Amino acid sequence: MENTSEKRRASAGRAPEKKPGKRRRRRSPVRLVAMAVALVAVLGGTFALGWHFGVESTRYHGDILLVNSEHRLPADYVPEGLVNLYEQRHSFRLARSDIYLTRETYEAMEAMFAAAEADGVNGFIVTSGYRDYDRQAEIYAESEPGLAQEPGASEHQTGLSFDVTTETSEGFESTEQYAWLRAHAHEYGFIQRYPANKADETGIDYEPWHYRYVGVEAATRIREADITLEAFIEQNG
Ligand SMILES: [Zn+2]
Repeated sequence: MENTSEKRRASAGRAPEKKPGKRRRRRSPVRLVAMAVALVAVLGGTFALGWHFGVESTRYHGDILLVNSEHRLPADYVPEGLVNLYEQRHSFRLARSDIYLTRETYEAMEAMFAAAEADGVNGFIVTSGYRDYDRQAEIYAESEPGLAQEPGASEHQTGLSFDVTTETSEGFESTEQYAWLRAHAHEYGFIQRYPANKADETGIDYEPWHYRYVGVEAATRIREADITLEAFIEQNG
């Protein structure tokens, strides 16, 4: 990235010296405007390029996006293809009518909950999906220290994660819905992102309700090896 941007800045700097002085003076107002436009374009391009490279080199393994307190998303990162779950066919309940996920995540999740229902396990209530940077900043500001992720560090900004619960007076981890997800989520491409006793790797305490879409192959490998997404990316990066 550094090389590319330096090359780009260098070529932008050379451009005005190509033409003879006389001609350059006569056309200077036009040239100044053109140079300003070119400068904005180069700076904009460099910024976009840097951001793109940053995401690919530091936050992805293959096409798997890693987000945690050390690998943050920019404030303007919005996943492509978000769908409102309320407007889609859903074999699960929704805590609100404004929960969004990427289409691929929604389709995998719908297949998963339909399969659970076919197994006689239903009553799942999805409580949270995509959360934008500003919303996460509000949550962070309102939360006790250590309970919420800082803006940019929340996996909910990816649109690939959701929280689920069911009507229970005990914890979600003691329900049949949780047991079903524990046994089958990977078959639909989901992992339990924050397992018990792995906070030293994930940075987040046990969250039996939080699931993350990574695709069937990665989810199956992560489940079988009983590892975190951090460890999986570390081992396969
Ligand atoms: Zn969550």
